[in-house]
Amino acid sequence: MKKLIMAAGLAVMLTACGSQEKKAAEGENPFFTEYNTPYGVPPFDQIKLEHYKPAILAGLEEGRKEIDAIVNNPEDPTFENTIVALDKQGALLRKVQIVFGGQNSVNTNDEMQALSREMSPLLSKYSDDINLNPALFARVKAVYDKRDSLGLDKEQLKLVEETYKDFERGGANLSPEDQAKLRELNSKISMLQLTFGQNMLKETNAFKLVIEKKEDLSGLPENLVATAAETAKAMGMEGKWVFTLQNPSVMPFLQYADNRELRKQIFEAYINRGNNNNENDNKAVVRDLVATRLAKANLMGYKDYASFVLEERMAKNSANVYKLLDEVWKPALAKAKEELADINAEIKKEGGNFEAEGWDWRYYFEKAKKAKFNLDENEVRPYLKLENVRDGVFYVANKLYGINFKQLNDMPLPYKEAQCFEVTDKDGSLLGVVYFDFFPRASKRGGAWCGTYRPQSYKDGKRVPPVVTIVTNFTQPAPGQPALLSADEANTLFHEFGHGLHNLFKDVHYSGVSGVPRDFVELPSQINEHWAFEPEVLKVYAKHYQTGEVMPTELIEKLDKSGKYGQGFATVEYLAASYLDMDFHALSGQAADQKVLKFVDQTNQVPANFDVMDFEKQTLSRRGLLKQIPSRYRSTYFNHTMGGGYTAGYYSYIWSEVLDCDAYEAFVETGDIFNQEVAQKFRQYVLTPGGIDDAMVMYKNFRGKEPGTDPLLKNRGLK
Ligand SMILES: [Zn+2]
Repeated sequence: MKKLIMAAGLAVMLTACGSQEKKAAEGENPFFTEYNTPYGVPPFDQIKLEHYKPAILAGLEEGRKEIDAIVNNPEDPTFENTIVALDKQGALLRKVQIVFGGQNSVNTNDEMQALSREMSPLLSKYSDDINLNPALFARVKAVYDKRDSLGLDKEQLKLVEETYKDFERGGANLSPEDQAKLRELNSKISMLQLTFGQNMLKETNAFKLVIEKKEDLSGLPENLVATAAETAKAMGMEGKWVFTLQNPSVMPFLQYADNRELRKQIFEAYINRGNNNNENDNKAVVRDLVATRLAKANLMGYKDYASFVLEERMAKNSANVYKLLDEVWKPALAKAKEELADINAEIKKEGGNFEAEGWDWRYYFEKAKKAKFNLDENEVRPYLKLENVRDGVFYVANKLYGINFKQLNDMPLPYKEAQCFEVTDKDGSLLGVVYFDFFPRASKRGGAWCGTYRPQSYKDGKRVPPVVTIVTNFTQPAPGQPALLSADEANTLFHEFGHGLHNLFKDVHYSGVSGVPRDFVELPSQINEHWAFEPEVLKVYAKHYQTGEVMPTELIEKLDKSGKYGQGFATVEYLAASYLDMDFHALSGQAADQKVLKFVDQTNQVPANFDVMDFEKQTLSRRGLLKQIPSRYRSTYFNHTMGGGYTAGYYSYIWSEVLDCDAYEAFVETGDIFNQEVAQKFRQYVLTPGGIDDAMVMYKNFRGKEPGTDPLLKNRGLK
């Protein structure tokens, strides 16, 4: 009795204390009030590091209460009181997380990273508690079972189905014993994925190519030599040069270094990461991952892990993925053999008496390319001033969709040098706000991406416009100089802005149907790249930053032709990795392909003596992969598939590319790359519906037929 009173007293005290604290915090923590900013963008200037944690904790608490309210609702489950309520729950948590996630990518520091590690288990427990909540699932299932009699519209029906499927795929339908097994398998998988990534990082950092003699630098561009000297200095080896296995170091080394023996050393170190039989070896990790994923798939009732994954994708099943890979493989391999012949000819021309090896490819390809096209990257940059390219991106969007852009000053910015634009539709209504953050800095993640600081949604029947952010890491100009982009960088801006358009045009009522499958998501971005180098578009934006002269036709043609050269190698190394990813995850005791059966025993288990490298070798050599081209990622450093994220999904890039090439063909066929009718259809059927429709249905609504691979093969110069 005494104990009870004490506990009750404590509870009262805690509540009192809690509400006081919350009251004090509410006064200053911007997450606890409606944003009072233009366009309702996050008040970046007011958000401080110390605001995140209390807001996330409050968001978790609020979310739990919302879930409890759904479960304890005395009324029968309905679409509104269960499915919609579930879709809306966690609003505060999402509001904080979207800002924290964005800022942690572009303005990170040790404290933010520590906070994200601290919050990670709380957040995954929160989602487990939702997914495996039997009372909640019972209500969802009740609505799902009678979904056809509820008079729901298409979007609502899709939301019910997606919600139910999420629970099902999270294990809600399993027996309690199997749920316990699933939790165990899930935690084993995440642990292995983490180990894989950590080993890979250690192995990448473990190797250094230290050069002591100046003559060994022969062939390397000046800037690369300077960086290598800096790296050496930072490692306490002043006066020497260090090359590493990071891509910006190893790849240009392989491309330019005249010393064949050194190329061989760094190449072999690169392709053997995680395969050195030391404490960072990843072979056993890969084996365990493949085995555990297969066990999970079987527990969930699927014959292999790829089937479990692909059910949710546009591709639907392994057979469809393999069909595409096989269709592109043959012509790509033929093209790679032509490139190999050019490479061997270059070796002969130099008086070499050997056949090309893996460490020769990039080096002699570079020479062959120069001999053929005589194109210097530095000729192009003056025509691609950043502001001009950005305006070119806007020009294309305006020509296609009639939308307009206005730069906004005095806005709260996610980073102090970010730019902000208002985007309005052709009728003048507000579509959304777009931020750009162009240059690298130490606190920013590498690469380029498009995200949101507020996704499109509806509130009280009114559309809430999205706040979109486009982040790149373009070459930083010298002080006082304009930023002049490479052709690749210009292409990247068109790409990311394509994702931006997808976000801006989206018009859905529920967040549960906002997303599209991974193998569809690159369609809006990749199609936007097609306009970037069209001569009629270049004439508008590609003007010399000093003279204003339009990029010469001859240069445009050189750019076009040289861009296709090398697609044999690029396509083959990409497809090899895609096959490898699929083959690992299509393994099962019932494998249709007899050639992989020997790797799995009768009971559908991956045996303990499963040899990862032998599997890789067999899987690639039986398809005729050239010995000079390793898979873009080998098994022991294939983080896309082994680290998670792109498991049975590395094929997605080329799947989306089939779509974007075929979709662009719809414009080209009319003789007008800005055809208004086609643009209108693309917007309506592809860019607007989010995930309301099945991806193939969306595509056929737009195109009137399924996509074919011909435009892709032509675009890559493989046909
Ligand atoms: Zn993309």
